[in-house]
Amino acid sequence: MSKTYKIKGMHCASCAAIIEKKLREVSEIESVRVNFATENMEIDFNESKITPQQISEFIKPLGYELQLEKKKTLKSESSDYTEFSQIAIGLVLAFFSAFLMGWEILIELSYLPKMNEILMGFFHHLMPIFATYALFVLGGRYLVGMWRFLRYGVANMDTLIGIGTSVAFLYSFVLSAFEEILKNYVDVSASYYDVTIVVIAFVSLGKYLEKNSKRKTGDAIKKLLKLQAKTALVLRDGREVEMEISNLQHGDLIRVRPGSRIAVDGVVVEGHGFVDESTISGEAMPIEKNPGDPAISSTLLANGTFVFRATKVGAETLLAQIIKMVETAQNSKAPIQALVDRISAVFVPIVLILAVLSLLSWLILGSYLWNLEAALPFALSAFVGILVIACPCALGLATPTAIIVGVGKGAENGILVKDAATLQKLREVNALLIDKTGTLTKGKIELNSIENKSNFSERELVSILYSLEKNSEHPIAEAIRRYAKREKIDSQATEKFEILKGKGVTAEIKGKKYFAGNLKLISDLKLEFAENSIEKETKQGKTPILLTDETQILGVFMVSDTIKEEAKTAIEEIKNLGIKPIMLSGDNANTAKFIAAQLGIEEVIAEVLPQDKQNEVRKLQAKGFVVAMAGDGVNDSPALAQADVGIAMATGTDVAIESAGITLLRGDIRKITSAIRLSKFTMTGIKQNLFWAFVYNAIGIPLAAGVFYPYFGWTLNPVFAGAAMALSSLSVVSNSLRLKFKKL
Ligand code: ADP
Ligand code: MG
Repeated sequence: MSKTYKIKGMHCASCAAIIEKKLREVSEIESVRVNFATENMEIDFNESKITPQQISEFIKPLGYELQLEKKKTLKSESSDYTEFSQIAIGLVLAFFSAFLMGWEILIELSYLPKMNEILMGFFHHLMPIFATYALFVLGGRYLVGMWRFLRYGVANMDTLIGIGTSVAFLYSFVLSAFEEILKNYVDVSASYYDVTIVVIAFVSLGKYLEKNSKRKTGDAIKKLLKLQAKTALVLRDGREVEMEISNLQHGDLIRVRPGSRIAVDGVVVEGHGFVDESTISGEAMPIEKNPGDPAISSTLLANGTFVFRATKVGAETLLAQIIKMVETAQNSKAPIQALVDRISAVFVPIVLILAVLSLLSWLILGSYLWNLEAALPFALSAFVGILVIACPCALGLATPTAIIVGVGKGAENGILVKDAATLQKLREVNALLIDKTGTLTKGKIELNSIENKSNFSERELVSILYSLEKNSEHPIAEAIRRYAKREKIDSQATEKFEILKGKGVTAEIKGKKYFAGNLKLISDLKLEFAENSIEKETKQGKTPILLTDETQILGVFMVSDTIKEEAKTAIEEIKNLGIKPIMLSGDNANTAKFIAAQLGIEEVIAEVLPQDKQNEVRKLQAKGFVVAMAGDGVNDSPALAQADVGIAMATGTDVAIESAGITLLRGDIRKITSAIRLSKFTMTGIKQNLFWAFVYNAIGIPLAAGVFYPYFGWTLNPVFAGAAMALSSLSVVSNSLRLKFKKL
């Protein structure tokens, strides 16, 4: 069983890589996955050999920690505030330094008159003080990052910033401390205090904003948690006691008052009311609840009051399962992320090497071309610039933030996505197999006609069929039961009931064996039946049920289903997306073709046995199609699993979550196209993000290294490198947030 822990101390994607690498060396740990965007770690480990505390100890020297107790929100709020005020001070200092820098440039270009010497000197002497604050107070963690690099050899983006800014600081410090001696060798006025100040202030601001928007990408979970009741009124010894929902147990009797949410799943035992189930079914009309009806967690009692018996509590409730699924999906890594991870892992060391190489080359080349006095600041600026611009944190945010928004947006619209891989695959789908009954049709079947071929009376005939269908869950059986009850026809005792998958049912009544089912069943029994006698009706979309004993056909019942109103537009939209819809049904071929024609579906695979549905999926895949399969998820699970993307259509109460890649909570097949659109724009968002993350580096690194200098005289001032790097993370995160407003 894998467990999920929150990790404290992560600042960037390479942190995730560092933790993964470190923990993979521990033999008691089987697998570990760290997600930077959610700050979660999913880990499989041998619990008898190692404790979470010990795991935490492994990564502590590297600056990370598992969060083992529940976070005290108060403390984090106050530390948030401290962080914010430190950044605010840093920004004031940064603006002051930038202003000073700008002023001096303008003086040099003689746009401004020379400033008072004493005042200028005073300002200049403020710079080391500001830089000290920036580096040692605001930038403490970058120094820690540098120290970790020196001590343990692990490098992340903090290391890059740490080395860059402290080198700038140290250089300037040496210049000002030994001004008198050094002024004969280098230009002592060219100090880099402002680089230290501005870079640290900007990068910290960037990180701070990034952290806050990162939180915003994940607020779908918060919305779901709001649907969770905190307490419930439990009946104990005839009294109502308010209890925390975590203390509820199976069998507890719970009173629901109007206006409150149902806390756990159960069955109504007493009372009457109307429940707004829109959170689960999308149906806005309140649904009437009487004893025997299901009560679902997260739904809202609009009026009336009732008592229900808890049947699912804690993690078993529908809402808990939905929340768990969304969380797991948001934590999961899209396949496209694997490439990004590989790049991030080697990125930091490569950048360090590049920075050192360009430092050395400019020192050598510069001293040769100009002199050491001019070469040193140039080389140093290149060194610091590369380290600052190259931080791979935008790279680490590109995929996960988009996935978090995509999965969350799906959940808010009743589209539950199992994992990021499914979301990535869905957009490639070009064939959609759709189960007929219950997906394209309402699954609410009506009995249309009865043809009696026996010596029984019609009521006796219905009674036999009713008895056979008593124990079947097929919508056809449901129709027969409804008809019999309406006509007040009783059932008889049966023995040896058996479901003949995809064909019908059989049972014995008073020692005599009967069968009810389709034409396949008739041919299995080797009975004679003139198929053309029912052809007219099947071609009108009706399904025959043949009732037989072992030797002859006793009656022919025709039933029919109604097409869902939204199915026609849904099929049209699916075709517009360039996806080929194919109907898959166990029903009679004529019947299925009729329904398909009504919906504009050209391809029909009918009379398929349940066990063969999986094979039909495989056949399409062999033809090169990327196949999605939409079904009810209960008897279609092997086919759903075989498909590239399985889409389970849930209907209200019986949600078989986790049986498929996508679960459509509100059973509406128009949601299939919404899900595909969701996948498309999430993946587009990821690609844009990756572009933005790479482009800053692709341009910034050579620019900072001074590659363009010999040709165009272009370099990158480290101050701008700091701003650009903060901007790249922000543009990635805000691009992901933008996905929230896309129309599904
Ligand atoms: P589908 O979901 O497309 O209806 P099934 O495999 O469930 O596919 O059923 C295939 C066919 O088998 C049905 O169309 C019906 O003709 C017959 N059948 C299945 N179950 C029953 C039943 N309980 N009573 C009568 N006929 C049944
Ligand atoms: Mg079915």
